[in-house]
Amino acid sequence: QGYYTRRGGVGESGDFITSPEISQVFGELIGIWYISEWMAMGKPNTFQLVELGPGRGTLTEDILRVFKQLASVLSKCDISVHLVEVSPKLSEIQAVMLTGGKVQPNPEDNLAYMKGISKTGIPISWYRDIQDVPPGYSFYLAHEFFDALPIHKFQRTEKGWREVLVDIDPEVPDQLRFVLSPSRTPATQNFIQPEETRDHVEVCPEAGVIVQRLASRIEKDGGAALVADYGHDGTKTDTFRGFRNHKLHDVLSAPGTADLTADVDFSYLRRMAQGKTATLGPVKQREFLKNMGIDLRLQVLLQNSGDTATREQLLHSYDMLMNPEKMGDCFNFFALLPHHRLVHPDKKDKPESKSPLPPVAGFNELLLK
Ligand code: SAH
Repeated sequence: QGYYTRRGGVGESGDFITSPEISQVFGELIGIWYISEWMAMGKPNTFQLVELGPGRGTLTEDILRVFKQLASVLSKCDISVHLVEVSPKLSEIQAVMLTGGKVQPNPEDNLAYMKGISKTGIPISWYRDIQDVPPGYSFYLAHEFFDALPIHKFQRTEKGWREVLVDIDPEVPDQLRFVLSPSRTPATQNFIQPEETRDHVEVCPEAGVIVQRLASRIEKDGGAALVADYGHDGTKTDTFRGFRNHKLHDVLSAPGTADLTADVDFSYLRRMAQGKTATLGPVKQREFLKNMGIDLRLQVLLQNSGDTATREQLLHSYDMLMNPEKMGDCFNFFALLPHHRLVHPDKKDKPESKSPLPPVAGFNELLLK
């Protein structure tokens, strides 16, 4: 009975709007990021693009357009797309967006629940869980995915940590309320760091498990993961909130009808990847997009657009993505990369023997040759 399995209103007509829905440039620059990493990792002859929570499919659509435009660069590479999506309604919208609706439900040969071919000729499969995606060299993408997963909330009290729980209000019928657990709970024991200094903490164990899986897969089969979301680096406290029809909505009223969200704690994700992969970020969205060349891309689109309305729309969406007061500062980019992508394995022994590793685009300036 969850929000995403029943309602899942991404987009202008829904409950909240996301960057790929605001501007095509966003997805295009992410597409360039994957190509740049693919090149830096020695142009493997095959890769899977795995997206967690693809929403309306717009981001994948924009990325696949870039892959098509740069087909000469990717020519000998065998690419497939794998979408992890729990919402039946959104997977249908994705199928229409990406394949024109030509999909095969319940294919017998593997764990996918739907298959199709993109308009650009790339095979696409749908799954309910990252564990169902076949192993292999993969580039992962999670945009506004981790913030949608359930959290535990904790409050520091004079008697120690207590968990914030949801209870039925005995005074008001059909009304929920927050209460503090009377004593410690298994979650307070397991999820609070001994060195924690905040008084209120939110932890998303499901995000931790998924990041551990991504890190293990990257360590074993190669690839990289790009995570973009609003969040913080282990500093924020009470961020849990709801959105309905683009307005803030009380999280406890009419459950299942509003998008519930909590800022992603990137310090927690980093801890979960530790030992298996290296991590970069979080960096602010406006820095990442600037490094990826958004200004140049905007200039090209402005030059190519004949009418004033399109130009105004381009400038407006640029402002939405980049303005620190809008999405520029609160959204962050974070990456999981194999250790060898950042440090030569034999660098310690022979520091002079290798050419320097190319910088990771977005976190540094993009240098495409
Ligand atoms: N990435 C998209 C959509 C973000 S909304 C965009 O930026 O526009 C969150 C997405 O995650 C939706 O597609 C939702 O259906 C999906 N989702 C939520 N919980 C999920 C889960 N547990 N497993 C897989 N997908 C999930």
